[in-house]
Amino acid sequence: MTKALSLKSTSTDSHFSNRFSNRVLAWFDEHGRKDLPWQQNITPYRVWISEIMLQQTQVATVIPYFQTFMERFSCVSELAKAEQDDVLHLWSGLGYYSRARNLHKAAQMIVNDFSGEFPRSVEQLMDLPGIGPSTAGAIASISMGIRAPILDGNVKRVLARYNAVAGWPGKSAVAKELWGIAEELTPAERVADYTQVMMDLGAMICTRTKPSCMRCPLKQDCEAHRKGEETLYPGSKPKKDKPERSVRMLMIINKHGEVLLEKRPDTGIWGGLWSFPEVQIDDDLKTEASRISRLELSGYEEWDAFRHTFSHYHLDIVPVKAFAESTSAINDGDRWHWFQPDIPSELGLAAPVSKLLKKIRQSL
Ligand code: SF4
Repeated sequence: MTKALSLKSTSTDSHFSNRFSNRVLAWFDEHGRKDLPWQQNITPYRVWISEIMLQQTQVATVIPYFQTFMERFSCVSELAKAEQDDVLHLWSGLGYYSRARNLHKAAQMIVNDFSGEFPRSVEQLMDLPGIGPSTAGAIASISMGIRAPILDGNVKRVLARYNAVAGWPGKSAVAKELWGIAEELTPAERVADYTQVMMDLGAMICTRTKPSCMRCPLKQDCEAHRKGEETLYPGSKPKKDKPERSVRMLMIINKHGEVLLEKRPDTGIWGGLWSFPEVQIDDDLKTEASRISRLELSGYEEWDAFRHTFSHYHLDIVPVKAFAESTSAINDGDRWHWFQPDIPSELGLAAPVSKLLKKIRQSL
């Protein structure tokens, strides 16, 4: 149970919640962000795209991606009828590609199951792929004016500090406590501004390592601030060393100077993106290459290894440039394809693959 806020609803709590929201909304009127691209011409579609892009990604990085995305797919039906490759291409560099695949699938569901109109409840929004409770709350409150709490990373930090909620929010008991607080504090009026200001406070004031408590509208009764323990909240994830994996990426080049790429399955890392075929470090290169691609290699050279880090492991990549006389062995056009190394710009490519293709172009 928190000190600053009891989770049981009482008239005192409701008075307390109003005071809280009035204070943060007054701060919003003076200091909150109002000029972000997705705050203009607000629609559920625009809010949804921005919220998905903003997961794990900074606002400054998202802005140009959002603008390009809106130019290409201005509404949900445009997105629904796009090729997955086009969507992934616009996502190239943002990472966490399952977000883009889910956007595409959800757009098709909105068009097919809801006649192109966004469902107007948090529960129905959460039935769409890639939309969790916080994203659903943000879409519902910002674009539809529905009273719905949110609890993204920024809001978790503000509420955990304000109420001195100990523990890592990835633990369900901690998350449950924070959701209870978020629910209780969310006002009935000005829900869109309230959602925005909670995100703003986390991003601009109550930052991870150096919160600006002196400028914070919550400083007078923030528990973490009172104790001088701001950065102890929220609790950190218990540390685990990231595992390391190694792989050889086979950059097979044919006599026309084309490179062989494979479309990866939809699930797993770089799902749906085009990549080089991979051979395990311990496998015999020529035998494996012939097994995977049905091509005989006439020679190869190993390049320096480099590391690509995912959220859950490190991947050490050993690039191998290899040559094949034949071009005919690969018939599965949906999965395998020969490309010129100046790859068509609409293709979705894994980040290390783009980097290696550039090096191949320089080496030819
Ligand atoms: S007073 Fe400091 S720690 Fe508390 S919510 Fe504000 S910025 Fe965060």
